[in-house]
Amino acid sequence: MSESIVRALKCRECGHEYKIEPTHVCEFCFGPLEVVYDYDKLQGKFTRELIESRPQNMWRYKELLPIDGEPKVGANNGYTPLVKADRLAKALGVKELYIKNDSVCYPTLSFKDRVVSVALSKAVEFGFTTVACASTGNLAGSVAANAAAAGLESYVFIPEDLEQGKVLGAAIFGTNVIGIRGQYDDVNRLCSEVAGKYGWAFVNVNVRPFYAEGSKTLGYEMMEQLGWKAPKHVVVPMASGSLCTKVDKSIKEFIKLGLVEDNQTAVYGAQATGCSPISKSVKDGTDMIHPVKANTIAKSLAIGNPADGYYANKVMKESGGYAEDISDEEIIAAMKLLAETEGIFAETAGGVTLGCAQKMIESGRIPRDESIVLCITGNGLKTQEAVLNEVNKPRIINASLKEFDVLAEADGVQ
Ligand SMILES: *Cc1c(COP(=O)(O)O)cnc(C)c1O
Ligand SMILES: [Zn+2]
Repeated sequence: MSESIVRALKCRECGHEYKIEPTHVCEFCFGPLEVVYDYDKLQGKFTRELIESRPQNMWRYKELLPIDGEPKVGANNGYTPLVKADRLAKALGVKELYIKNDSVCYPTLSFKDRVVSVALSKAVEFGFTTVACASTGNLAGSVAANAAAAGLESYVFIPEDLEQGKVLGAAIFGTNVIGIRGQYDDVNRLCSEVAGKYGWAFVNVNVRPFYAEGSKTLGYEMMEQLGWKAPKHVVVPMASGSLCTKVDKSIKEFIKLGLVEDNQTAVYGAQATGCSPISKSVKDGTDMIHPVKANTIAKSLAIGNPADGYYANKVMKESGGYAEDISDEEIIAAMKLLAETEGIFAETAGGVTLGCAQKMIESGRIPRDESIVLCITGNGLKTQEAVLNEVNKPRIINASLKEFDVLAEADGVQ
């Protein structure tokens, strides 16, 4: 069972279809292109048993990904734990809470390894030998690592002021890191020009339709790990808004294929107040996305002019979800809460997801007695600056039992 069911690229606005090639905008209306499939070809063949019989990586759902045959890049990527978060549930006052923990995604500790695996596999199929990206941080590391492992040349473009862990986490792979004076939106604009001129595969520019499909695997895993069930509520961090739309698409596909029942899942989006064009549009009850200049410690989510904002807005509205945003202080508090209750050190984006979920639970937007999944998408070791001065410093003593006794007594230890 490996026949591709990919039908075409289709314009999300006018519906015009294109054959499978490295392109991402409609020639007629400039709408974004999306991969569409002939699901009928899979009816009855793509079963729970088949999926369960495969290795635990994101390719166990390969029929629903836009590649030909076997993956060319990232064969081991994906498949992260779904953690039943009982201590955090208690702290939030909810009954059934799970964390989809992509802070430990293989190989670069963010969900970007999912999108990059698909984008680079497709780039190799198309015959590209140089790959590139415009990144808010995690994408750069993932492109660099996966390109290195596949023997591809890579260029990664980032805003120059990213966290040390993100910069190092790309540079170590011997890639070409280009720091741009400006914000992500400036980086992205430059990359569109470079992609046009240099003929490279830019994972989130000219091969973006394929790239974006990789995000669906987070949703597939979530449902399989819930025992082939869709949750009632799922909270997703938003930068461009792509992940939010693809989690929704993953659920609709599993329902269509009879792999889960329709649980009327509501999809919620999370942003930092310092860069919240999508959540603001949802809260204002409009579908207009007004671009902003970003100013937040959640740098991985700092896209002021989000490419999929309009579609993410629609997903939240149509699914019965909502969106929220929180301050940088609230992000830090949520990072600490997640770490102290569940032993998970998430990056700033993880703080955004949890903090926004907490806010929506308290406001009654998310009910306390139904299943909730939080998508934690990146690792805290890459954004250490955010919490360095927010945790206790080690207490330094000599290697002396007497000195420890004094310390223990001060702590009230018996
Ligand atoms: C890129 C990123 C996201 C969101 O990505 P979208 O552009 O909305 O798909 C979320 N969390 C982390 C940690 C990221 O790096
Ligand atoms: Zn079109």
